[in-house]
Amino acid sequence: MIYRDAKVTVTAFPTKHALESYGYRFDTPDRSIVISGDTSPTDETINACNRCDVLIHEARAVEMFARLPEERRAFGAKNHTTSELLAALATRPDRACSSSITPGSPGGQMPKPQGTSPPR
Ligand SMILES: [Zn+2]
Repeated sequence: MIYRDAKVTVTAFPTKHALESYGYRFDTPDRSIVISGDTSPTDETINACNRCDVLIHEARAVEMFARLPEERRAFGAKNHTTSELLAALATRPDRACSSSITPGSPGGQMPKPQGTSPPR
């Protein structure tokens, strides 16, 4: 536990990236939210998500991953999570972790809206 007040308790847990990294669990009277941060899949994240309401986890689409140059693909495979790995991790039957997977943004750019006019 790294913080607590009357409305929230924040717990940090180690994640796995090229640098020291942490995820966070926020427990409130109504909800529990876990944020993985930038990480490869870890048991610590799923342990932290046990009975959480929402897991926000970084993930990269397998198709996008395959298009990366080899050196970036190797770094990504070691330090990040593909959508397939996330689905396998989040649906393990030994964990009460439910979440939805929403599309990411290849290259860190937000996807452009389809069929709408640009803002003026
Ligand atoms: Zn990263």
